[in-house]
Amino acid sequence: MIVLKFGGTSVGSVENFRKVARIVQDCQEDKIIVLSAMSGVTNTLVSISELLRASKTKEALELINGLNQKYLVVAKDLLESDEGFYKAQIVLKKQHQVLLSIVEESFTIQNEKIVMAQGELVSTNLFQLYMEEIELESVLLSALDFMYIDKFGEPKSAVIKDRIGKVLANYSVNTFITQGFICRNEQNEIDNLNRGGSDYSASLIGAAVEANQIQIWTDIDGMHNNDPRFVDHTFSVKEMSFDEAAELAYFGAKILHPQSIIPAQESNIPVLLKNTFKPESIGTLIHNKAKVQKIRAIAAKDNITAIKIKSYRMLMAYGFIKKIFEVFEDHKTAIDMITTSEVAVSLTIDNTSKLKEIINELQAFGNIEVDSDLSIICIAGDLAQNKKGVTSAIFNGLKDIPIRMISYGGSNYNLSFLVKSIDKIAVLNILNEGLFKRLEIEVLQA
Ligand code: ADP
Ligand code: ASP
Ligand code: MG
Repeated sequence: MIVLKFGGTSVGSVENFRKVARIVQDCQEDKIIVLSAMSGVTNTLVSISELLRASKTKEALELINGLNQKYLVVAKDLLESDEGFYKAQIVLKKQHQVLLSIVEESFTIQNEKIVMAQGELVSTNLFQLYMEEIELESVLLSALDFMYIDKFGEPKSAVIKDRIGKVLANYSVNTFITQGFICRNEQNEIDNLNRGGSDYSASLIGAAVEANQIQIWTDIDGMHNNDPRFVDHTFSVKEMSFDEAAELAYFGAKILHPQSIIPAQESNIPVLLKNTFKPESIGTLIHNKAKVQKIRAIAAKDNITAIKIKSYRMLMAYGFIKKIFEVFEDHKTAIDMITTSEVAVSLTIDNTSKLKEIINELQAFGNIEVDSDLSIICIAGDLAQNKKGVTSAIFNGLKDIPIRMISYGGSNYNLSFLVKSIDKIAVLNILNEGLFKRLEIEVLQA
């Protein structure tokens, strides 16, 4: 079994739906196709939710009706048979009704989650009808029948495995289609795996069915050595280890949802990143046999806040760091980076929803300084501490950039440091020049 996930751009138009179907047709193995919402749709659903939250019903209705019109145009063009278009109209009418009825009700978080789920529900239905029209046998599965998260929003892997196993056993076809992103929570309500979560769905489903491979099809030819949105002359990396990919995804490489590598890594399932618009390009293979390379790629994560706790009570004291960590644990706030000195601890977080409470509690331990608008720069590669020259190669070019924190030695695959977000693009470009020029030439000559 293979899992193939197609992102928003890959199902963003009629032409692209057709491209996806060709890729699916060319894949001879048993497969589960995981689809995102059509590009732009989840953003529109977020806007609808925001308008409803602000009681701007008229504006929300305009967006809802606009979305429905857009879908009808796509469906008419995609499905040439009367029967196909008729079936699509039924699906679209139903989802239109769901949104319209939510407008009638008062705004709740649960209704917001239902709104957010509509994008994937529509894209998968349209794709399945297209597969039917071109006579490719497939079965549409509802991810809401098997994707479950617990009360902390973490996937329930054992439940997913059990449920999807039972669902698949009902059919004898070799192509299944399902939604990325959406799931059910502890209360059995509709929920989601956060923005970009379809990658995570694909990886969780791959692990649950013990797939041979998980393919993530997107709009670029695999993981690049640096963020192509901010740096020219980036190039596709042919292979990398799970650890490297996990670090890059967590620290901002948008091509992968931050947690999406973990299920694949735990089950040792290779992940292949491919370009829907250039299927012949080899993409990036993430697996456990990747040839070691000193520096593999760079990523950056924005919206980081640094907190410094300064206290002379920390001198020679044990148990101090534990107490600080407990504050973050109590507020379910993950720490990304940490550095310590004799009299201070600095750490970074990206979720600031509980910042006020955290600072209030930390004040009992010493002086607190908070800095925001920071970015973590993550360099992934074989960065084991017994290697010479790695740190100097990284920091040589950065002498004019103020660096707020450095974290090295925590893992063998990552060095990260903190800069002001206004310096991020400059840093990514300087590092690209300094670390990858030679590799880029090799890639171009290959
Ligand atoms: P999808 O909708 O298919 O999930 P995304 O937009 O989430 O696609 O991810 C693909 C995008 O990720 C690319 O178009 C690119 O702009 C961005 N990106 C950021 N960092 C990287 C990187 N290191 N390598 C490749 N793409 C990256
Ligand atoms: N449609 C969702 C989003 O836009 C999930 C995804 O595309 O991965 O965030
Ligand atoms: Mg994505």
